[in-house]
Amino acid sequence: MMRNMSARIPDSLQNKISQRLNFYDDLGVRLFFKDRGAAGIRTFAAPATQSFTATVSQQISYEEVALPKSNRKPEPPATAQLAPRVAPPQTARIPDVLPVPAGPSLFEAFDKVPDDNLLKIRTDLGECTRCKLHKTRNKIVFGDGNPKAQLVFVGEGPGHDEDMQGLPFVGRAGKLLTQMIEAMGLQRKDVYICNVVKCRPPENRAPERDEVEQCSPFLLRQIDSIAPKVIVCLGSTAAQTVLATNRGISQFRGQWLEFRGRKLMATYHPAYLLRNPSAKSEVWKDLQKVMAVLGLEPKKGKSAEAGKSS
Ligand code: URA
Repeated sequence: MMRNMSARIPDSLQNKISQRLNFYDDLGVRLFFKDRGAAGIRTFAAPATQSFTATVSQQISYEEVALPKSNRKPEPPATAQLAPRVAPPQTARIPDVLPVPAGPSLFEAFDKVPDDNLLKIRTDLGECTRCKLHKTRNKIVFGDGNPKAQLVFVGEGPGHDEDMQGLPFVGRAGKLLTQMIEAMGLQRKDVYICNVVKCRPPENRAPERDEVEQCSPFLLRQIDSIAPKVIVCLGSTAAQTVLATNRGISQFRGQWLEFRGRKLMATYHPAYLLRNPSAKSEVWKDLQKVMAVLGLEPKKGKSAEAGKSS
């Protein structure tokens, strides 16, 4: 029935429904999904280290969150994802569903571009018109920070302030991110900050599949070129894109995952924290795990502030 419905639902509405379901999932509202039938529910063994509390047992019941399935392209055969060794940025294809958050990502099949660097990647991006976001953007927001950072933050996409300034995370959410970074004993110039999509989606909607597919190869190249020790994905879009999963972020937030040989942690987006300050303490716990790996001490007086629940 869902398949028939999705054939009639426009992409934008499907996107909104997906976002809303992810939001409920983030809140741990699992009953919402129950009437969608047992056939659609898949059960996975929970990793021993999982820290989230969505279920009462050691098994996670999980309904594939992305509602509209019929418009999703089938996963291409593995060979179709392989890029030539020296490749111009390619259109990434996102597999429909991955059963585990640490599964192979859409990026795993991409080879590194030899001798890549941020300048080269920015040059290749150019005055990009690869997707429709170029029509409404003011400035491309490529990324900012230390090109050899040990820590990379990946957000969703620029908002209004970022679009005006051409810099990532400079609005309200950005100010909170800056506080979080400083609480970790770092400064913004020590880390690298970028987004899944480099142009602002109109009205701050979530980036659409084709936009992510066009833009994500540049994100991959940025990560490969910086070669950080740790990647922190901020929010569902970043985490789901990089990990190529459509599981709600609450199911794997705060756990160490691996991405192309690097440690990856997904945590809540600062914009979510602005709406839900009580989640700040959860994020602070996640960031403390990151600090432990990077050998960082919290800046005196800042940790309490960043971890404060309101
Ligand atoms: N939100 C994001 O995901 N990225 C930004 O750059 C700003 C806000």
